[in-house]
Amino acid sequence: MIDLHSHSIFSDGALIPSELARRAEHKGLTAIGITDHGDFSNIDFIIPRVLGVAETLNRVMQIHVIPGIEITHVPPDLYAEIVTKSRELGAKIVIAHGETIAEPVAPGTNYAAIKAGVDVLAHPGLISEECMMAAREQGILIEISARKGHCLTNGHVAGMAKDLGAGMVINTDAHAPGDLIDSNMARRVVHGAGLGEEDFVEMQKNAARFLPTDYFGRQV
Ligand SMILES: [Zn+2]
Ligand SMILES: [Zn+2]
Repeated sequence: MIDLHSHSIFSDGALIPSELARRAEHKGLTAIGITDHGDFSNIDFIIPRVLGVAETLNRVMQIHVIPGIEITHVPPDLYAEIVTKSRELGAKIVIAHGETIAEPVAPGTNYAAIKAGVDVLAHPGLISEECMMAAREQGILIEISARKGHCLTNGHVAGMAKDLGAGMVINTDAHAPGDLIDSNMARRVVHGAGLGEEDFVEMQKNAARFLPTDYFGRQV
């Protein structure tokens, strides 16, 4: 089970990255993305530190830590700029905090994030068909969320992604130890969104693209 989206104390999560990684490993996860909330004030602080701890932990742990960032409440007009900066700083995954109905995310954020070429559009709320098609065209993954509030539109998001052929992933957006889930619970969330077992398998394959590959391009 791969979970690409979680938070540590580098934003509003409860755990330092090492404990988050260990607790995820104990849950049976094979990889976890640590993707704290970032804007122009803090990405230069967060990304190098999470990158550093991920490189160190990945030398010895079973679980693979994917160091990333979740661009959060950055105005749509500034999205391209912050995504470029995040990649320059070394983020291995760039997630956009999409237009969840649980928060007043600026309208236009979903579209700006897709145009800016993020890797994953998290909790995109009542995403439009135009955005979903643009995401599919650019190979941007659409998140089904296990998080309270954000999960309220999973049915809409899953149905439209499936109809229009966009790739999906299942993430926890964990902020505390109790938010982490195992693969059985992840399956239940996916099924609860109206999807099937084959979709869960596909979502895990999609998530695996953020794992390192060997000389031959095989996942290691
Ligand atoms: Zn948060
Ligand atoms: Zn998040």
